[in-house]
Amino acid sequence: PYSLGPSVTDYDSRRAQWLRDHPQFPATIAQGRPRVLVVTGSSPRRCSDPEGDHVLLRSFKNKADYCRIHGFDIFYSTAVLDAELTGFWTKLPLLRTLMLAHPETEFLWWMDSDVVFTDMLFEPPWSKYSRHNLVLPGWDDKVYDAKSWLSINAGSFIIRNSQWSLDLLHAWAVMGPRGPVRFEYGKRFAEALSDRKPYESDDQSALVYLLVTQRDRWGHKTFLESAYSLHGYWADIVDRYEYLRRNGKPGGAAASGGGEVWPLVTHFVGCKPCGGDDGTYEPQRCQRGMERALNFGDDQILKLYGFEHESLNTTAVRRARIDTGGGPLDADDEELAHLLHPSFRAA
Ligand code: UDP
Ligand code: MN
Repeated sequence: PYSLGPSVTDYDSRRAQWLRDHPQFPATIAQGRPRVLVVTGSSPRRCSDPEGDHVLLRSFKNKADYCRIHGFDIFYSTAVLDAELTGFWTKLPLLRTLMLAHPETEFLWWMDSDVVFTDMLFEPPWSKYSRHNLVLPGWDDKVYDAKSWLSINAGSFIIRNSQWSLDLLHAWAVMGPRGPVRFEYGKRFAEALSDRKPYESDDQSALVYLLVTQRDRWGHKTFLESAYSLHGYWADIVDRYEYLRRNGKPGGAAASGGGEVWPLVTHFVGCKPCGGDDGTYEPQRCQRGMERALNFGDDQILKLYGFEHESLNTTAVRRARIDTGGGPLDADDEELAHLLHPSFRAA
């Protein structure tokens, strides 16, 4: 059968040795702070929608902002590394390649190009995952009882640099090569899962299929996260940003003080920002939603510098506070000060 590459064995101990040999590149950069690499990308080709590449640029800017604030590295791919694994399957060879090339990275966080950070302050609770290798947005009952292909989302997930993860990527990729294999697995998914038709295999269904049919092998190291929006469904979110802003604040449930919790990410599933025909949603509705999500995220950055969008529906910005010329002395808001000068950047 298809293989992602030569099988890798004894990886955990070899990685541990590399880390011992390179103490200047620790996998933990500070107490409780694993080294994180956000991985994203888009097609090698330009978008068919003339607006598409601009949306991708803004979406990348959104991720660069988030990564700067949190001290994460970021990798943007515009290459299909394995001609067999095209489209959404291309994240698999990419993750494997980056994992092996960067033993110093503890976690890789895959982000689809149509995923937007909408809570710039919140950071995944890393210590919660100390016994897990994969963090997927999802629900136990929907995976193991309902066996739904929508029980998880493969557009935003976190995977540990480990032998287990390389093994998972391998088992996962077997279902992805284009052609007859994809059709064959599509049929198998339709039989094993409750709500999926027998069209070509997709990476998300394949992952649910692995969890459902080989729970003993993969289940106990997979954390199904529903305590915050590691993936947030855009249609339920994009009309609520003004409300969220009035009735809550960033930073997740702990920081909200009982107010509305902001979604960590907003994911435009079913929209095709780069063009192409999904046919699920009115393109204009998607466009407006993306504009609002990007502006909502960007406002959290602009605010640090004293600016804000005039509204979430427009690119125009205005001053949010009077420019006194006082510079950093004006930043009396502790939350903002923390984002401008995160402690991990201190000398
Ligand atoms: N992707 C990529 N290269 C490609 C095609 C897709 O890096 O050639 C990435 C891109 O980030 C995209 C994700 O894979 O968001 C999932 O692909 P899909 O076709 O599901 O796109 P979406 O519907 O998420 O826009
Ligand atoms: Mn997506």
